[in-house]
Amino acid sequence: MSLTDAELERYARHIVLREIGGGGQMRLKAARVLVIGAGGIGSPAIEYLAAAGIGTLGVVDDDTVSLSNLQRQTLYATADVGQPKAQAARSRVAALNPEIAFTGFEQRIDADNAAALIDDFRPHVILDGCDNFATRLAVADATLRHRVPLVSAAVSEFEGQLGVFRGWEAGKPCYRCFVGHDPERPGISCAEQGVLGALTGVMGSLAALEALRAIVPFGEDPAGKLLLVDALAFRFRTLTLPKDPGCPACGT
Ligand SMILES: [Zn+2]
Repeated sequence: MSLTDAELERYARHIVLREIGGGGQMRLKAARVLVIGAGGIGSPAIEYLAAAGIGTLGVVDDDTVSLSNLQRQTLYATADVGQPKAQAARSRVAALNPEIAFTGFEQRIDADNAAALIDDFRPHVILDGCDNFATRLAVADATLRHRVPLVSAAVSEFEGQLGVFRGWEAGKPCYRCFVGHDPERPGISCAEQGVLGALTGVMGSLAALEALRAIVPFGEDPAGKLLLVDALAFRFRTLTLPKDPGCPACGT
């Protein structure tokens, strides 16, 4: 695999970075990233991944664009209201970067089909920005079993969370080590509660950054840490996430 003259120009600001370079850019071109949820977090994540030259992008979303989405879901314009998000996302990605191979999945992921979707798409990284906890657990369990790094971002009102999970590794927690096992757990959904639109943009952009880091890679390994963003207090914090030795998902 090599980069064309147009790609060398398009990605010049990546390629001049010592930590990425031509080799890193070619890894991005060869990479397959699956994004769960094309909403407030998925919007900037999909845009930055496409702009960054991720060669193959998959987007899973069974929803259609509604007027109340446009306060934060910057992938869509007013004329897209009523369109399936996966289709509108395809148009946006094609306009932004026609080099990207795009697959839209107009379906909802659950515990029954998550493994098959991963087997089918074979992602190097999964970025989860979906709006419900049951889907998050199904995605997290499937990524653990398939040993696919999981970048998980969530926003609630004025708070954001970001974590990278590789729970099959010694000392690294899985998503269930972090959140527990109750599928009825409240929160981590902006479906009914309020959410600051610009904060979903921050967390989606950070999630894209971590997906890129997982592929190139560069800098420190974020797995085993949790980034918390408090937009009311103008504060970012990083916590260490311990691996739960009794975790039924990743424990020995
Ligand atoms: Zn675990």
